[in-house]
Amino acid sequence: MFTKVLIANRGEIALRVIRACRELGVATVAVYSEADRESLHVRFADDDVCIGPAPARLSYLRIPALIAAAEITGADAIHPGYGFLAENAEFAETCAASAVTFIGPTADQIRKMGDKVSARTLAAEAGIPVVPGSKGAVEDPAEARRVAEGIGFPVLIKAAAGGGGKGMRVALDAESFSRAFQLARNEALAAFGNAEVYIEKYLARPRHVEIQIMGDQHGRVMHLGERDCSVQRRHQKLIEESPSPAVDQALRDRMGDDAVRLADRIGYVGAGTVEFLLDEDGSYYFMEMNTRIQVEHPVTEMVTNFDLVKEQIRVAAGEPLQFEIKGGRVRGHAIECRVNAEDPYRNFQPSPGTITTYHPPGGPGVRVDTHIYAGYTVPPYYDSLLAKVIVHGNTREEALARMHQALDSFIIEGVTTTIPFLRRVIEHPDFVAGQVDTKFLERNPDLFKAE
Ligand code: ADP
Repeated sequence: MFTKVLIANRGEIALRVIRACRELGVATVAVYSEADRESLHVRFADDDVCIGPAPARLSYLRIPALIAAAEITGADAIHPGYGFLAENAEFAETCAASAVTFIGPTADQIRKMGDKVSARTLAAEAGIPVVPGSKGAVEDPAEARRVAEGIGFPVLIKAAAGGGGKGMRVALDAESFSRAFQLARNEALAAFGNAEVYIEKYLARPRHVEIQIMGDQHGRVMHLGERDCSVQRRHQKLIEESPSPAVDQALRDRMGDDAVRLADRIGYVGAGTVEFLLDEDGSYYFMEMNTRIQVEHPVTEMVTNFDLVKEQIRVAAGEPLQFEIKGGRVRGHAIECRVNAEDPYRNFQPSPGTITTYHPPGGPGVRVDTHIYAGYTVPPYYDSLLAKVIVHGNTREEALARMHQALDSFIIEGVTTTIPFLRRVIEHPDFVAGQVDTKFLERNPDLFKAE
């Protein structure tokens, strides 16, 4: 096992990793930007190093500063969390070259899956259904249009290097295609430094269902069931749950087997997520694979009783996977709501500021993953996630009732939060019935209007 793990991240996920290390008896190093001096992860870690000014590119994204921090403090491993450098192959490589273990897959595995075109090809080769679309990246506008016509409109133009819901454009018909194609390429180049795009059939009402997988260095890959992340705004997840109300055991087995087969093909090590779109007719298609721990990992932890972050660390240290999940079965139901410092009634405009009052919810089956406290100032530089509220119940009904209770008693004052909005979403009859797809919020603009 490692002696000291450096956490190359901030916020709730940095705390989450520190907790896992504590349980494993491993010392921790926090890194922080000048804007995060007063952060809890800095206080809770055994050691801490300031790695630069507030903007992420000058701190959390600076590979040499992170490696130097590991060397100075004697850390023998780095956990990247999610976001920032978590899916950066160069970072994984630099760690390896500096004799620091990167807690995650190899650089080669990150590259294969990070490029969405190459991931699609790998999935198709493994016999996994992929969304109908172009064989690879397309460059020539005329050829792209022919491909789109072949697929049938509407189509989605996606950046090969895309992520976080960015770098996607819908073209409804042949007339609007050329413009959308050009815009998508320009956006991809600006956002990801890579203009490569590919084309996919745009599904009308899919659900987002993803499979959590875990692989060790002894050739074992397993899956831990699915998460349904269909409640999205602009392709970004807001609420996640497990199991999916739309997935039965037979479908879970099939999707799980496909996810494991894909990971197996590249000898995948660590935690990963294979994302699928589940169509109205029950067919599903591979979308992409994320090679890191996800924001929504706690819902899987609640229904499997398995600590994914601890397992990531153990597996990176060469230990075999410990978990057995009988027939892929899970217990009860878990739901997660992401609470952001945003104004849902003003187009989700970020609302940084100082938290004056803070009272988290509690009680049976309620978990809050957060880094905030009364007196904490939410900096404007980073993601606006304040907290994740995760509930577990024996049934979906019980979990829903617990989420109501939890959101109702969650008091955060000083900044505007999305709590009242989330409260309305979980009360919506379609959500209560488990009948949502990725366009659910779009169809219900009333949810975004102040009462
Ligand atoms: P990112 O890597 O940016 O998260 P994804 O490929 O995971 O991008 O897609 C994010 C979301 O975009 C999906 O959850 C889904 O809502 C939507 N989406 C992606 N591909 C399609 C598609 N072919 N048809 C309909 N919706 C899609």
